[in-house]
Amino acid sequence: MERRRSPEAMPSEQTRVTRPADDGSDREIAIVGGGICGLTTALALEQRGLSPTVYEAASEYRPVGAGILLQTNAMLVFDRLGIADAVCDAGRQLEGGGLRSPDGPYLTRFDLNEVERPEFGYGFVAVHRADLQRILLDELDTTVRTGMDCTAVVGTDPPVVRFDDGTEIRPDLLLGADGIHSTVRDAVAPGVDPRPLGGVAYRALVTLDVPQPYRTQGFEIWGDGTYTGGAPVDERRFYWFATAPGPLTGDHAGPEAVESALRERLTGYPEPIPAVLDGLDPTDLVLTALEDLPSLDTWSRGRVVLAGDAAHAMLPFAGQGAAQAIEDGALLADALATSDGYERAFDAYESERKPRADRVRAESRGLGRFGTIQSTLGCRLRNLAIGAIPDAVVRRVRRRQAAGTSLPE
Ligand SMILES: Cc1cc2nc3c(=O)[nH]c(=O)nc-3n(C[C@H](O)[C@H](O)[C@H](O)COP(=O)(O)OP(=O)(O)OC[C@H]3O[C@@H](n4cnc5c(N)ncnc54)[C@H](O)[C@@H]3O)c2cc1C
Repeated sequence: MERRRSPEAMPSEQTRVTRPADDGSDREIAIVGGGICGLTTALALEQRGLSPTVYEAASEYRPVGAGILLQTNAMLVFDRLGIADAVCDAGRQLEGGGLRSPDGPYLTRFDLNEVERPEFGYGFVAVHRADLQRILLDELDTTVRTGMDCTAVVGTDPPVVRFDDGTEIRPDLLLGADGIHSTVRDAVAPGVDPRPLGGVAYRALVTLDVPQPYRTQGFEIWGDGTYTGGAPVDERRFYWFATAPGPLTGDHAGPEAVESALRERLTGYPEPIPAVLDGLDPTDLVLTALEDLPSLDTWSRGRVVLAGDAAHAMLPFAGQGAAQAIEDGALLADALATSDGYERAFDAYESERKPRADRVRAESRGLGRFGTIQSTLGCRLRNLAIGAIPDAVVRRVRRRQAAGTSLPE
């Protein structure tokens, strides 16, 4: 399974005990989790004149992990935060993509120059996760304290946050950005556990001479119980993913056994899948259980608030999990900077963000069920249905996704 930590090169700092600020003007905001959500929120807070501290469990950040597709709504937030150009430079701006059947033909295609780029200014960018993390870390003045594994949050007003090295902090406000298996979530929504879909996602960044037209195009192939696809992050590296129902091999099978089972499963799939499999280093494979969260009753309690996967982890089929986490970060920072008191800020944040994130999460689950149908007849009917969706409907969905949550100026 995927490592719960997302590591890159950064030395750990000394631990210290922090206490609540005495006056409201200098609020101590602790962010538990230094992934995409935690770092984006820290940057947005910083730019709003607030001074958070990030507590990340991993002992260091390391350049591992696969790629990520940042859709238009994520890029619009990065534009506001001033890092969109750096993200575009580090990754690959796509021209379009499409959905294919396992024997090759496209069921549907999209051109990002038709809707997203002309109407919103950005298309989709595929980037190595480590590059995105580096850009966020380079941009931050915020203290990021690695090696800080949160073990419990006791109380919510004020929150007392405990770490595995014995450190205890009492921030004025606590943000749980600690992912799908969040510890902080227990203080807000106790007893809520991820729901398995019953399958595994396989991801890797593959080094190869990326064949045309995949140097600027993403794609997905919906097969019988298997969903695969990817996008280039540059001319030499391709971000590839696949899902399969249940584990491909026994729990303790090594990377080579997983690779050979993947090859078997993807036999006969069209280019560039054979080229990707030939370039795959099995030790680079990242395996993740397919699971999401049910809708939470609330995203905050007392002085504790959730964001990103901790609040609304979703299946990867809509390619929106990180984009929703990035939207959370910007909106939460706006709300904290402009609202009268944290209660109003949390209410404003949740009422803006929760309906949209819950809807995208439900859509991802629906797509997951649809995309991983296992019967041959079911797959044929599904693929016929996809080809019959009117263009106007597809464009409406694309516009809604790209627009993101309305961000105040
Ligand atoms: C197969 C797959 C493909 C995906 N593809 C895409 C895509 O193309 N586009 C997209 O937008 N989204 C995609 N997603 C979703 C995306 O990866 C997540 O939504 C996103 O990473 C969420 O960010 P986060 O910061 O909320 O959580 P995470 O990325 O999980 O980060 C949480 C951070 O908190 C730290 N942490 C955890 N526990 C603790 C603790 N107790 N104390 C301190 N720190 C802790 C972790 O080490 C980590 O750094 C995909 C997901 C999967 C599974």
